[in-house]
Amino acid sequence: MSEQASPAPVKRAAKGKYELDERLKAYQGVWVFIEHERGEVHPVSWELLGEGRKLADRLGVSLSGVILGADDFATRQFCEETFFHGADSCYLMADPVLASYRNQPFTKGLTDLVNAYQPEILLLGATAQGRDLAGSVATTLQTGLTADCTELNIDMENRSMAASRPTFGGSLLCTILTLNFRPQMATVRPRVMAMPDRDTRRTGTVITHPLGMVETAIVTKVLDYIADNRQDKPQLAFADIIVAGGRGLKKSENFQLVWDLALVLGAEIGASRPVVQAGWVDPERQVGQSGKTVRPKLYIAAGISGAVQHRVGMEGADVIIAINTDRNAPIFEFATYGIVGNAMTILPALTEAFRQKLAMARMAG
Ligand SMILES: Cc1cc2nc3c(=O)[nH]c(=O)nc-3n(C[C@H](O)[C@H](O)[C@H](O)COP(=O)(O)OP(=O)(O)OC[C@H]3O[C@@H](n4cnc5c(N)ncnc54)[C@H](O)[C@@H]3O)c2cc1C
Repeated sequence: MSEQASPAPVKRAAKGKYELDERLKAYQGVWVFIEHERGEVHPVSWELLGEGRKLADRLGVSLSGVILGADDFATRQFCEETFFHGADSCYLMADPVLASYRNQPFTKGLTDLVNAYQPEILLLGATAQGRDLAGSVATTLQTGLTADCTELNIDMENRSMAASRPTFGGSLLCTILTLNFRPQMATVRPRVMAMPDRDTRRTGTVITHPLGMVETAIVTKVLDYIADNRQDKPQLAFADIIVAGGRGLKKSENFQLVWDLALVLGAEIGASRPVVQAGWVDPERQVGQSGKTVRPKLYIAAGISGAVQHRVGMEGADVIIAINTDRNAPIFEFATYGIVGNAMTILPALTEAFRQKLAMARMAG
């Protein structure tokens, strides 16, 4: 086993305090894997650069984007975007073999980069691609990976990333430190972290590194790309307004009241888990720990109690309006505005009020 694969344990210096051995100290800097597909960078990568900036500043180290992709203009242009979003440098691995995501060459590419430049922290989006890649890279490097984090901090005493995520079915938040291995890896779902400002005056350094792998060595081939173009596919994660319904709506037919209000507001539709389980709406509309994380400007929750598993998916909303018959419902503890009352009368009243407002605004030009 190589030295990288089996580091000696760090020394415990005092109660609760670890001293990094010399080999682990060699790992410096915060990296964010920049996920892209067909010329578009996934917004979670920019969100992670914003969060990575805070971690890097706390540690007094640099922040870097990591881009693997085809050897073309678009891939190189992404480097510039990483600087605009806060990176100091960008590691670029450009090769025709990396034109489309495949686990094998991306795992080799990213692990080679880590071994060559030794970052102490590596962040990826908890997307289908990010989850697939993070797992295999962490396994190859034999290091720690904390998945689906909701908070990232630095424990200065141990010079370690403190990665927090819900555990025990969401009833507890645990904070995980990777003390004995480097890099410390974490994935974060889209919309959990805020989008940083884009500053086009920023510049940085591009470091190129070869992949060193030929097409014939890869067992999977990309034959075609079939886009998921369903018209009705919910775009919850990036919606500005969401109207969501819960079990308090009592029956499937009443969920139409949520659709009515959403139509007037031009909003997306969300739901709590029991509503999805009852088959009232598509599973892609579930908000919460086992559904989507959202960050709209406005979230209207009708007949939703505000259980922690729902809350973690929507508490990043700028404004939360809760409608609930129970004035002691947990959702009122974190809602911006609370309406104590029956959703079956309040939802149609809101729909009508907004309809009239919009009609008046249109008439006024
Ligand atoms: C591992 C795990 C993962 C989970 N993941 C998720 C997840 O991703 N998303 C999620 O939502 N849940 C999730 N849950 C379930 C979660 O714990 C709650 O059970 C769920 O969020 C409750 O949904 P609800 O608020 O619609 O229903 P309830 O908790 O039953 O609340 C219904 C609310 O409606 C109110 N009400 C009743 N009648 C009316 C009325 N006429 N008008 C207005 N209000 C009314 C009630 O006062 C009550 O507050 C998960 C649970 C576990 C264990």
